[in-house]
Amino acid sequence: MSQALANVNGEIQPLEDVRISVLDRGFLFGDAVYEVIRVYGGKPFLIDEHLRRLSQSMESIRLEGADMRDIIARINGTINAGEFQEAIVYIQITRGSAPRKHAFPENYQPFQLIWVQPFQDAYADARQNGASVVTTPDIRWHRCDIKSTNLLGNVLGAQVAAEAGCMEAIFYREDGTLTEGSHTNLFGVRDGAIVTAPRSNAILPGITRELISRLAEQAAIPMIEDYLRRDELSTLSELFVSGTTSEVMPVVRIDDQTIGDGKPGPVTRRLQEAYAKAVQEFL
Ligand code: PLP
Repeated sequence: MSQALANVNGEIQPLEDVRISVLDRGFLFGDAVYEVIRVYGGKPFLIDEHLRRLSQSMESIRLEGADMRDIIARINGTINAGEFQEAIVYIQITRGSAPRKHAFPENYQPFQLIWVQPFQDAYADARQNGASVVTTPDIRWHRCDIKSTNLLGNVLGAQVAAEAGCMEAIFYREDGTLTEGSHTNLFGVRDGAIVTAPRSNAILPGITRELISRLAEQAAIPMIEDYLRRDELSTLSELFVSGTTSEVMPVVRIDDQTIGDGKPGPVTRRLQEAYAKAVQEFL
């Protein structure tokens, strides 16, 4: 299997050899945005959608000077150089390094890091049998729509889940509504319809979420954009989360409640099949 291979500002090198300045603003301030793309059979899946979101994230934080055509060429060049098949691409663009001062430096050069690593599927069993998740307060900032590397709220949530032996932490707000997971979007099934939080600054507009909405439409499964509530979980027939590496992940337990009969439900299964078919067609 190939080793992880990095591309730093256009130069390919082993990931473990990459060195960055301690003055890099991504390191000091989290002044950076990122993307994760799944590679199936040597090809980056939904790359246009991911790079569109990367552009939007950069625009949102006014990060300039990175060219999307260069980034596409570097992604493909790095996948090919390492002959990766099943892999993930991580992309991070920071506002470069400069003397430490909060406001943007003048004439900064963005630091452009890409790496590709073989995909290790930690979720295969949970995808088959269903995952357990926990709920935790959403303590994050008001721009969760930006895929920024400021992930401390997500990190702390994910740790709550890890300590509970769970796959994911689902964030709830003070009003009892559920937003998303620490690294996934959340969906419920209510009266046969899929319910997921509306696109807003409270959630990341997941690329997998977007694909699921297209797949649901093709399968004539109604999908409603509405916040699920923590106090209605016992009334949902199914629950699942989605993400680039999670794909469509059935959730069969949340805190101490079992969802449905404790097994992945029919709507989730249909979406998993539709997802697998979309990947096959892409290949
Ligand atoms: N929500 C959050 C907070 C995430 O970090 C992620 C992915 O990492 C997602 C949702 C799912 O997004 P995507 O489907 O684009 O991977």
